Amino acid sequence: MLRLDIQLFAVPFRRTSKTKKRMRRTHLKKEVGALVLCPKCGAAIQPHRACTKCGYYKGKNVLNKEEATETKESK
Ligand SMILES: [Zn+2]
Repeated sequence: MLRLDIQLFAVPFRRTSKTKKRMRRTHLKKEVGALVLCPKCGAAIQPHRACTKCGYYKGKNVLNKEEATETKESK
């Protein structure tokens, strides 16, 4: 019995042009998520998440950052 050691796979009929390639890649981009301003320090943060700058969420220090305690003392 004749056994051929070959692999069969799909082969592009023709080369993708620069324009077609670039048109396809216009959709491949990273999207910037929604940002809100922290009510405590005013930094741009993601909504419904604790602030990475001061560690506050819903008026409480949930990350126990030292910067937050410093601002508390100065206030
Ligand atoms: Zn903040």
